Amino acid sequence: MSEKPIWGEDYDLVVVGSGFAGLAAAIEAKQAGASVIVLEKMRIPGGNSAISGGLLAVAGSPLQQREGIEDSPELLFKDMMVAGMDLNHPVLARLVAEKSPEILEWTQTFLGVEYSDNLNYLGGHSVARTYATANGTGSGIIKPMLAKCRELEIPVQMKTLLCSLLKDDSGRVEGVEVRRDYLFPNRDSGQLQRIRARRGVVLACGGFSRDVAFRMTQDPRLNEKIDSTNQLGATAEALVLALQAGATPIHLSWIQMGPWASSDEKGWGVGSMFTLLAGFPYGIMVDAKTGKRFVNEGADRRLRTDAMLITDRIPVAIVDSEGVKNATTLESCLKRGVVKAFGSIEELANFNHIPLVPLQETLERYHLSLAHGRDAEFGKPLAADLKPIEHPPFYSIRLLPKVHHCMGGIQINAQAQVIDIADHQPIPGLYAAGEITGGVHGASRLGSTAIVDCLIFGRIAGQNAAADI
Ligand SMILES: Cc1cc2nc3c(=O)[nH]c(=O)nc-3n(C[C@H](O)[C@H](O)[C@H](O)COP(=O)(O)OP(=O)(O)OC[C@H]3O[C@@H](n4cnc5c(N)ncnc54)[C@H](O)[C@@H]3O)c2cc1C
Repeated sequence: MSEKPIWGEDYDLVVVGSGFAGLAAAIEAKQAGASVIVLEKMRIPGGNSAISGGLLAVAGSPLQQREGIEDSPELLFKDMMVAGMDLNHPVLARLVAEKSPEILEWTQTFLGVEYSDNLNYLGGHSVARTYATANGTGSGIIKPMLAKCRELEIPVQMKTLLCSLLKDDSGRVEGVEVRRDYLFPNRDSGQLQRIRARRGVVLACGGFSRDVAFRMTQDPRLNEKIDSTNQLGATAEALVLALQAGATPIHLSWIQMGPWASSDEKGWGVGSMFTLLAGFPYGIMVDAKTGKRFVNEGADRRLRTDAMLITDRIPVAIVDSEGVKNATTLESCLKRGVVKAFGSIEELANFNHIPLVPLQETLERYHLSLAHGRDAEFGKPLAADLKPIEHPPFYSIRLLPKVHHCMGGIQINAQAQVIDIADHQPIPGLYAAGEITGGVHGASRLGSTAIVDCLIFGRIAGQNAAADI
């Protein structure tokens, strides 16, 4: 028999990760009567969730009803499957589509999250269905979640690194070994301690976009020269612990790059939201070398990125004053010089070294498409409120895809139980939710579907783990 561990502390549930998935799990479990602690390795809580764009896809929402937009969970599910190249695990993807209205309602009425009063049309979606938090970032959801944790007296323990998952003799996960007072990224810092989890451990440790060594094992092209939109702590060690505990890996090599990021700043910055909410939906993207469009600006991220990365292309998005109404970060983009404003298309072409005549021809062709209501060249979905790009000032942003999202991760079932690779059965006592899991999004995640994914499966993990006796 193995030696019994000496526990420093004791809870019903140990949740690792303080983003959308982890906090949702903790809140649900505490409400179900379980004692819970949230562990987070970084100095500040929230992970990628806090810095995210706060965009939430909802199929069949009150704003859609107001705008007369017909939508359904079935249509969102289909859009997710098309982007995911049918690699999505349909049971999980369907849950996300079906529960999206419930998540909107939960964040509004239970957490008090505030959203802007308009819908956004993101690439790969058939209709406008994306809500945006009123403050324009995921912190608009994370802050109310942290406030709820304080209200429910859930400790959120920072600077605490998960180092081991501990199993009892029957194979049940019964606790964790951590480093307390850990100072990222020094793996030897802090003191080792064991925390018992009587009912379960929830892994909500996010993706590995910042883990260059790990991501290169899956996709050798994603070397250290390629930037990422993620927070620095988006690394793979917790995923590796889960794999060592027998979890089934899914789709680890499907790593998404964000096509809207800018070459004129580091990381996610302020430009990504500008391109997402204005440059792509209301503008066009051209290759600065030719002045020509080369892809549907409303396609899913994988298709756009693949087209942008063709050797020597210099992608620039162009939009006018009519197209920037939803661009929450416009002012900061201009202040930081990530977006430039021009009085005429000639000036814009001159600054970006775009040949003027081909650019003018491109714009004329695009305007004809708008007049005909169909983009015959690239098939961009043309929303009813699209106008010709002819109202100064004109804006441009230089683009460069950056590593953004890990579709792959560990396998869970619809109860958020982690599945053992050996027998395809749940690993007793181990749950997971959010970006550390794989399967929901298949080959490519649609914009604004990760937040719903994390909140839905976080809540499910918390509810089920709390009832796991
Ligand atoms: C810049 C940006 C913008 C985005 N915008 C949107 C958007 O608008 N809409 C949308 O749907 N999706 C968006 N996404 C994707 C979405 O935000 C993420 O997929 C989601 O936030 C992941 O949530 P999570 O809870 O799984 O992980 P995270 O929020 O990343 O939280 C995981 C936490 O676990 C911690 N952790 C990791 N390993 C350990 C360990 N060993 N020990 C202890 N703690 C650990 C991490 O430090 C982190 O804080 C965006 C992503 C980024 C990066």
